[in-house]
Amino acid sequence: MSEQTVALVTGANKGIGYEIAAGLGALGWSVGVGARDEERREAAVAKLRAGGADAFGVPLDVTGAATAAAALLEERYGRLDVLVNNAAITGGMPQEPTLVDPGTIRTVVETNVIGVVRVTNAMLTLLRRSRSPRIVNMSSTVGSLTRQTDGTFDTGPIGAAYPTSKSFLNAVTVQYAKELSDTNILINLGCPGYVATDLNGHRGYRTPQQGAAIAIRLATLPDDGPTGGFFDDDGVVPW
Ligand code: NAP
Repeated sequence: MSEQTVALVTGANKGIGYEIAAGLGALGWSVGVGARDEERREAAVAKLRAGGADAFGVPLDVTGAATAAAALLEERYGRLDVLVNNAAITGGMPQEPTLVDPGTIRTVVETNVIGVVRVTNAMLTLLRRSRSPRIVNMSSTVGSLTRQTDGTFDTGPIGAAYPTSKSFLNAVTVQYAKELSDTNILINLGCPGYVATDLNGHRGYRTPQQGAAIAIRLATLPDDGPTGGFFDDDGVVPW
């Protein structure tokens, strides 16, 4: 079995996911670029490889089965050390609770929550073979109910789909941490801050590299690191 650390990043063809892949690649890791579109995936892999990263493409739409992605990793490495569940969608507007099409909520949850469960569970057998498995779920401060309700924090547009999907993801991640508490798998939530990407029409004020930093930190936690936590660059994010 290869000694090189192996990671998979979902939604790694652009934005923060791409920079997470680049950052993990810069550590000398082998990085799977999980992406649904072949052209975008291969372009990202080529760019990462040109930058010196040991990147490879992993065809993966998180709304579908992740078994082929797991089989690819199994055949290539026989294990997975780090999974970063980064892929997400906003669902567009309107999504105020009184206006939202319920189908919009369903679509967003399918990607942002159920997609994470599907990919994580497909990768568990491979992760259990790692000496120090880590799972990082990319969340957001808009998923913090404390920040949504304390009246002092700008949580952006009111939404019944995207922000709530991140609260749901936070809740699911806590349940994973509880179930996996007697294993060596550390699973945590990372918040990248407000980052200029396609997700928000590039209105964010942080760079994708800055947004990637928390994921890289949680991907490289020591064995006695936290699990079931919610973190950004400043530390713990309130639930
Ligand atoms: P982005 O630029 O829109 O990139 C999203 C990525 O997810 C793309 O690679 C996209 O692939 C992929 N994706 C979407 N649906 C997918 C599916 N069904 N299967 C596979 N891949 C899929 O977004 P971003 O800003 O980098 O966001 C990355 C993460 O950070 C997300 O979890 C987001 O919620 C979180 N976040 C972002 C911000 C921010 O300010 N940007 C703030 C807080 C949290 P395609 O190219 O194929 O669409």
